[in-house]
Amino acid sequence: MEKKIIIAIDGHSSCGKSTMAKQLAKEIGYVYVDTGAMYRAVTLFAMQNGLYPDEGVREDALQNAVDEGKIQISFKFNAEMGRPDTYLNGVNVETEIRQMAVSNRVSPVAALPFVRTLLTEQQQAMGKEKGIVMDGRDIGTAVFPQAEMKVFVTATASVRAQRRYDELMEKATSQAEKDALSYDEILKNVEERDYIDSHREIAPLRQAEDALVLDNSELTREEQSAWLLAKYKEIVSRC
Ligand code: C5P
Repeated sequence: MEKKIIIAIDGHSSCGKSTMAKQLAKEIGYVYVDTGAMYRAVTLFAMQNGLYPDEGVREDALQNAVDEGKIQISFKFNAEMGRPDTYLNGVNVETEIRQMAVSNRVSPVAALPFVRTLLTEQQQAMGKEKGIVMDGRDIGTAVFPQAEMKVFVTATASVRAQRRYDELMEKATSQAEKDALSYDEILKNVEERDYIDSHREIAPLRQAEDALVLDNSELTREEQSAWLLAKYKEIVSRC
């Protein structure tokens, strides 16, 4: 039997990391973990509990909630969608965590040291048995620096904003939801998250030295998936 490895996929916001990661996990029978969903779930918890007013996140109150074990995040495979759904304290929040209100607030929450410690430990526990594809910002640098395969994905900000816009348009269930979407707002969000994610003190977004780099601005989904699968086969054959 082939050796099981850890595959870390990091990169900028909305560059299609999760689509690629999910597809690869399915093809090779690995578990897929979307770590961005975990940071989004903590952010949603803060929003739902009055811990994220307009002035900014209430750090002390959020830390208390973390210390008291009030934020439980889990994943359950959704066979119909072919991907895991994210649960916050037992409630499926997969749709809510993808909304712009969460995207606009997640990066400051993800910069908090106690949030990173909590989620990093959970992610490391999920990868103990290997056979995992995990995507995020710091997987190859902080969560699994020893991962056998590391990929750093990027694309220009305008390409990423357009992809995100198209995806949200496709998911919108009413004309009002579609009308509320703005390409400019999405581009601003993508650029702001890139900035905060790359400049935070703990585990900033950066390319691991031993990562394979993929700029997918000009690639189709099929081309990316084929590239990733070929790299996996090459790496696993050497392990
Ligand atoms: O991947 P996604 O865009 O859903 O991630 C949402 C946010 O969560 C990122 O912009 C980043 O602030 C944070 N994040 C992180 N570390 C990870 C994954 C996500 O800081 N490993």
